[in-house]
Amino acid sequence: MDILTINDRPGEHPQSWYAATADAPGPYPAAEGRVKADVCVVGGGYAGLSAALHMASRGLDVVLLEASRVGSGASGRNGGQVSMGQRLEQDELETHVSMDDARMLWDLGAEAVDRVKTILRESGDDCDWRDGVIHANHRARFSHHSQQHVEHMQKVYGYDKIRYLDRDEVRHEVGSEDYHSGTLDMGSGHLHPLRYAFAIARLAEAAGARIHELSRVTRIETKGKPRIHTDKAVVEADHLILALNGYHNNLDHDVAHHVMPINNFIAVTEPLPADLAAKLIPNRHAVADSRFVINYYRMSPDNRMIFGGGESYGYKFSADIRAKVRAPMLGVFPELKNTKLDYAWGGTLGITMSRLPHFARLGPSSMSIAGFSGQGVALATLAGQIAAEAVEGQAARFDLMQSLPSPRFPGGPSLRTPLLALAMTWYALRDKI
Ligand SMILES: Cc1cc2nc3c(=O)[nH]c(=O)nc-3n(C[C@H](O)[C@H](O)[C@H](O)COP(=O)(O)OP(=O)(O)OC[C@H]3O[C@@H](n4cnc5c(N)ncnc54)[C@H](O)[C@@H]3O)c2cc1C
Repeated sequence: MDILTINDRPGEHPQSWYAATADAPGPYPAAEGRVKADVCVVGGGYAGLSAALHMASRGLDVVLLEASRVGSGASGRNGGQVSMGQRLEQDELETHVSMDDARMLWDLGAEAVDRVKTILRESGDDCDWRDGVIHANHRARFSHHSQQHVEHMQKVYGYDKIRYLDRDEVRHEVGSEDYHSGTLDMGSGHLHPLRYAFAIARLAEAAGARIHELSRVTRIETKGKPRIHTDKAVVEADHLILALNGYHNNLDHDVAHHVMPINNFIAVTEPLPADLAAKLIPNRHAVADSRFVINYYRMSPDNRMIFGGGESYGYKFSADIRAKVRAPMLGVFPELKNTKLDYAWGGTLGITMSRLPHFARLGPSSMSIAGFSGQGVALATLAGQIAAEAVEGQAARFDLMQSLPSPRFPGGPSLRTPLLALAMTWYALRDKI
């Protein structure tokens, strides 16, 4: 099983609405021969590109190796939601880590969103950024928790950009009878994810990073000074940053034990009539709902519903992704029954047991950043910067992130998928109750 080829053709972005509406930089040449650099970054998603941008901007000689095209992993295929904080809500985080660490993680999450906005500004492409993410409750019994969450965020973290939505308000914001309450966070937002990946790549290239596509790393040596091998090149660098997230296969065995790949799917409708688009999401915020297998969606600038949902726990994508996404979409918006789906695709993300990112040192000057657990648009961007800081000798934030709980998955890379499938089937069933 090879996650890079089981669902995709190397050198090609999946046929998504994103790929159809973005101009790719490059193509960048494959790496060849013996290459020397201060730093080698492996992986051309947000994490790797952001690390390369940060270091190249500070004058380091950076080589980035990407197996396919930049942004061809999860970074070019995701829901585009840019959320504050971490994957777990703060009150839940506080039960896993100290209050100081919970605050630090909140601050990092806020810095991550700021960093995204700075990159948009510097690149001159706003990537269709819009403020506002709604969390919508599909069960009335979750309303109390949402109210408490808003109060907690205001009182403990001084965060006042989030507010509670009662039944009428949530149904005004989301034209669906599926929801009973929710929250609206105006500090979060959404964007065109592939254009964002391309924006970072262009900035990194302009800062002097040497980007190589179709340069799959087949082996890494991390015990001493890193040596990184592709079929056609060997890179000798003072430092190595692995940024592979869900696409890591088994390049580093230990990372594979902590970060598990799971698939998720998105479908995009044909453009909707303007009055229907205005009825379904009048203020054009992004929405994520309270189901364990989350439905997440938003409206494109040309009035297409971009709807994500339906995980799978084998490595191969479903044969009929349209059908897989259509079912939850019609559960929320039955009026889209006769609407055509113009695009549908899948992507692979990396989750951890704790749902906190997994930062690891693989050797004296080699590290890995992964495990953004479905919230990587902002967090992977910041992770790249934090790894870059560690390369530059300021490792305090990397060390803090590395010290967070990140247990191994039971069963190891081979057994954990059936175990997870079993657990997920139970949770998916629970969503229906
Ligand atoms: C369908 C879907 C929806 C999502 N929705 C959201 C969302 O709305 N909001 C959010 O915050 N997050 C979301 N996520 C998660 C988010 O996309 C990821 O957390 C983020 O993109 C991770 O970035 P990354 O750079 O770590 O990894 P990736 O973007 O996956 O990049 C890893 C790169 O490494 C390359 N690679 C792998 N192996 C090798 C090798 N051996 N040699 C060289 N290169 C290699 C891959 O080709 C790939 O380009 C979603 C993910 C998916 C799949």
